[in-house]
Amino acid sequence: MPDTDGRRKRGNAWTLGKSHERGDLILIRCGHCNIKRWYEPSDLIRLFGDVDIDLIDGHMLCEKCRNKEFVRAEARHLTARERVGIRVRRLAEIRVVRRVVWKDEE
Ligand SMILES: [Zn+2]
Repeated sequence: MPDTDGRRKRGNAWTLGKSHERGDLILIRCGHCNIKRWYEPSDLIRLFGDVDIDLIDGHMLCEKCRNKEFVRAEARHLTARERVGIRVRRLAEIRVVRRVVWKDEE
């Protein structure tokens, strides 16, 4: 079912930065788990940079099924009334994992 409210503009760059300026939220859905989550564009910019929102598709890990392939993102501009009851998932921290790699002496 097409979502007429979505601001998904194929071939017409709509970036996270534009969404941030306009005060959008980013709706991210996993088509596999049928889960919807809302994010602040500024948080996603910290992870992905100021990219076209379409580029997030397939790049964000679903926190439930740990898959990326079914994840779709779209910008939504909500009215104050629509925002009531929506819980936005905020970026708590970016963890940089230290991975140790060993190698035998030559
Ligand atoms: Zn999922």
